[in-house]
Amino acid sequence: MIILVINCGSSSIKYQLLDMKSDDIYSLLAKGIVEKIGLPMGSISHTPAGKDKIVRELPIEDHKVGMQLVLEELVHPEHGVLKSFDDIEAVGHRIVQGADFFSGSAIVNDDVMEKIRICCDFAPLHNPAHILGIKAMQQVLPSVPQVVVFDTAFHQTMPPYNYMYGLPYRYYTDYHIRKYGAHGTSHQFVAQKGAKMVGLDINNSKIITCHLGNGSSITAVQDGKCHDTSMGFTPLAGPIMGTRCGNIDPNIVPYIMKKEGLTPDQMTELMNKKSGFLGLSGYSSDVRDLNVKAEEGDQRAKLVFKVFTHEVIKTIGAYIAEMSGVDLIVFTAGIGENNARLRRRVCENFAFLGLAFDYETNAAAHGDAIISLPDSKIKVAVVSTNEELVIARDTMHLVQEAEE
Ligand code: ADP
Repeated sequence: MIILVINCGSSSIKYQLLDMKSDDIYSLLAKGIVEKIGLPMGSISHTPAGKDKIVRELPIEDHKVGMQLVLEELVHPEHGVLKSFDDIEAVGHRIVQGADFFSGSAIVNDDVMEKIRICCDFAPLHNPAHILGIKAMQQVLPSVPQVVVFDTAFHQTMPPYNYMYGLPYRYYTDYHIRKYGAHGTSHQFVAQKGAKMVGLDINNSKIITCHLGNGSSITAVQDGKCHDTSMGFTPLAGPIMGTRCGNIDPNIVPYIMKKEGLTPDQMTELMNKKSGFLGLSGYSSDVRDLNVKAEEGDQRAKLVFKVFTHEVIKTIGAYIAEMSGVDLIVFTAGIGENNARLRRRVCENFAFLGLAFDYETNAAAHGDAIISLPDSKIKVAVVSTNEELVIARDTMHLVQEAEE
């Protein structure tokens, strides 16, 4: 089944076209990104599998025009990978927030759209853009089924004692304030793949998945289901991130707002865009930049790395305690997959529990790898995440079920 996977932001559309033969047998036909939608000049970078990237710059008025451009590239007479639009059998959309409406993926209909719209309140930066993307796709491919796959769905198995906050109960009943988590498709994918790699039965396992990228979240996965996760009502909670502050004493928020006369929107921007590695270092949100600075002796860049490492260690420690043990720790995403030093520093702290670390494999690992020694009581793996594949699999299953 040929499936177009869409990840739509407010001014961008990331896409992949996959030919799915089965869950594990598939090929990537093309991928790309449309950027700067609605600005005077936009662009599309399109890469057909095995060929060079093609970049076109042109004004892209709205998401519908962006989707049309994507389709044009896919059927382009020279570098196209499809003969016609009709070859696309389904579209799968990534949706950041599905709240407690969705514990799994769904085929788009009016009811589903209304619920995604209600969830805009909890993800004001993301869900409105996803709605634009779905509507644009419905206009350009009206007869193709559309499926929505939620970042929050995997976390819906959390027990109430892990998702409730210590606020008056009515804020939960009136405003749905509770922990929802994020990066769920990634946590689910790497937990399953990591378990397979080390020969663990996922249905009888304790796994901690560390998705460490620009945004970072850590999840306790017990018997294949989410038991707890570090992101909260929004993706601001958890360890310190690229530009997000992560967990802070909540009283700091009104304190800064009063001191500096900030509005709620300005404070939200400060905590989401100007904090984290960027705010603490005063330099960059990117760990690669900070590594260069730290090697030059910059104390604040070193401090950022220490704060991050220790927050990851503390969260893993808490989840080991919560699940009363751990069989496997998985590292994924930009930092988790590429930063051997971070993995080493984190894992060394769990040597007292019998984690025997494979320093050599760790230093060389970039793709999938097992970085614990064979006799380690706790296994450790690096797994490349692939959220698009999860979206394509779910889309394929739902569309096939609907056809039966
Ligand atoms: P996002 O959450 O936006 O998808 P990523 O998962 O790409 O972000 O993570 C971005 C972070 O990962 C940055 O701090 C960056 O330094 C780090 N990173 C990404 N790729 C590499 C790499 N090849 N080598 C070292 N660090 C990397």
